[in-house]
Amino acid sequence: MDLLKQKILNDGIVLSDSVLKVDSFLNHQIDPNLMKEIGDEFVERFRDEKITKILTIESSGIAPAVMTALKLGINVVFARKRKSLTLVNDLYTASVHSFTKNVTNEISVSKSFLDENDRILIIDDFLANGQAALGLLDIVKQANAEAVGIGIVIEKSFQDGGEILRDKGIRVESLAQIESLKNGQVTFKEEVTV
Ligand code: 5GP
Repeated sequence: MDLLKQKILNDGIVLSDSVLKVDSFLNHQIDPNLMKEIGDEFVERFRDEKITKILTIESSGIAPAVMTALKLGINVVFARKRKSLTLVNDLYTASVHSFTKNVTNEISVSKSFLDENDRILIIDDFLANGQAALGLLDIVKQANAEAVGIGIVIEKSFQDGGEILRDKGIRVESLAQIESLKNGQVTFKEEVTV
C-alpha cells in the first residue's frame, strides 16, 4: 500500500511518541480514492475466506469497511459506542477502552445482524493496544459466528495489540505498519516478503 504510506508521510501529523493524527484522509475528512484502494487490498488479502459480513466500529472504521464490503457484495455492521434510543433490546455488548480518548465505552451490535452462519472480517482504522479488536471479537463469539481475520489500515507495531491478537492465532493484516513515531518522525516497519 504505497499510496497509504505516502499519505501518512505527507499528511499525517505526529502528535506524540504514540499518537498519529490522520484527520485529513481517514479520521475526519475522507479520501474516497484511497478508501477504494484500501477496500481492494483487503479483498485481495482475504480473498479465499468466503466472508459473509464485515464488522467494524464507529466511526472511523466505517469508510474502509464499506469500500471492502462494496467490492465483496456484502453488508457492513458497525458497533455503536453510544446507546441508541432505537437500539435497546437484543444486543451483543462488549467493553472497550479507548486508547486515544481514555474512556471505556460499552459497544453494542443488534443481535439481528450477526448469526452463527456468518464468516466475519473485522476492519478498523488503527490498531494500538487491541482493545477495539478484542471487543469486536467478543461480539463475534457471542453471535457464535466465525472471525476469519482482522484488517487494519494502520497498525502501530510498537504497541502490543498486534502481538496479543496474533498470539491468539488470529490473522491480522495491516496495510501500514508503523514501527516508531519517535522525534516527530514516522518510521515504517520493514515488510518481509516471503
Ligand atoms: P486499540 O483499541 O487497538 O487500543 O486502539 C484502536 C482504536 O483507537 C482505533 O479504533 C482508533 O480509533 C484509535 N487509535 C489508536 N491509536 C490511534 C492513533 O495513533 N491515531 C488515531 N487517529 N487513532 C488511534
